[in-house]
Amino acid sequence: MNPSEILAPGAPTPEGFVPLIVPEIRGNEWRYVKDCLDTNWVSSVGSYVERFEGLVAERAGSRFAVATVNGTAALHIALLIAGVEPDDEVLVSSLTFIAPANAIRYANAWPIFIDADPNYWQMDPAKVAEFIDFQCQWDGTILRNRISGRRVRAILPVHILGHSVDLDPIISLADKYRLAVIEDASESLGGRYRNRSLGGIGHVGCFSFNGNKRLTTGGGGMLVTNNPEWATRAKYLTTQAKDDPLEYIHGEIGYNYRLTNILSAIGCAQIEQLDTFLAAKLRIAERYNTTLSSIPGIILPQLAAWASSSHWMYTILVGEGRSPLGSRELLQMLSKHRIQSRPLWQPLHLSPAHADSGSPPCPNAEAIHRKALSLPCSVGLTAASQAFVTDVIIESLMKRQP
Ligand SMILES: *Cc1c(COP(=O)(O)O)cnc(C)c1O
Repeated sequence: MNPSEILAPGAPTPEGFVPLIVPEIRGNEWRYVKDCLDTNWVSSVGSYVERFEGLVAERAGSRFAVATVNGTAALHIALLIAGVEPDDEVLVSSLTFIAPANAIRYANAWPIFIDADPNYWQMDPAKVAEFIDFQCQWDGTILRNRISGRRVRAILPVHILGHSVDLDPIISLADKYRLAVIEDASESLGGRYRNRSLGGIGHVGCFSFNGNKRLTTGGGGMLVTNNPEWATRAKYLTTQAKDDPLEYIHGEIGYNYRLTNILSAIGCAQIEQLDTFLAAKLRIAERYNTTLSSIPGIILPQLAAWASSSHWMYTILVGEGRSPLGSRELLQMLSKHRIQSRPLWQPLHLSPAHADSGSPPCPNAEAIHRKALSLPCSVGLTAASQAFVTDVIIESLMKRQP
């Protein structure tokens, strides 16, 4: 692939190029930012921070929210407030962006990667149960990995691509073995599981407002929880653990993970448009589903009966059955027509960054990764651009049919 064809989220789109996903800035963003600049409330405190926290908490159905500088920082703090300690283990999805695994390492804990289910590509609760049954020992208080000897402290399911993990069986296991459940809903704000909002179901949930996410503040994140002590501790840890603001007395080593008032102002304007965004994304997904449904060699994304997706990313599997064209070849064909598409992330049990994780095998994640290709799905994608994308896909696959 020509690296110049990888468009950074939030970068201006060149003429005639169909980007994978770009932000949609059409609401009150400019007005709210101007308000910050006009009033001099530009930095890490201000009314927009609290307002944005309130709006996200409401959307997630949680009592409390703490804004952070990005989603990775939210995950780091979520692990700390949930009681994850150095040398603990955390069960996390293998098929995900790397951020949650890195956050586990920032907490000096260790990720154990769990395979995806083959239908919806999310953390498979049966694989979580299998890991606990076959590799762990429960003494009535502590769940311990028999091979590493470490304590298992939390489960971190990642709702990838806008679709939810099947959470109920994971929460039952967590209750049984006294584990914390930390939802990574970075990609899935607005998605639902059995009619509950993603991010607000576990003990703590995290969101990202990076340039390519459901909503963007340019960069930003948030954690939500119903636990008042955890929320207070999250605020404390994200603001340098300040005990006495006048005398600069700090009770422990904290972090400067605050989100600025300017960025929160953008977030407030973005979340006002969330329902419009969700409707647009649903329309895009439905158009792809209709146009690509009868094309051989492609598997469309499936929606579980218990899920209502936020359709963050539209991802297909390519190279099924007799199709001679693989996902990376289709990527090349699209790229020739100046259409940006992208594979999913390298499954993390294979990542050189987490080479020493000692995880069980994850064959489903590997198979999905080989075949997956995400297609352009910006909120502002026009029907004409989308038709161009599907025309190129159909032509590429049909021409190559044996
Ligand atoms: C984007 C993302 C994050 C973290 O986001 P940043 O805001 O970029 O730090 C975490 N988890 C998942 C699954 C993501 O997709």
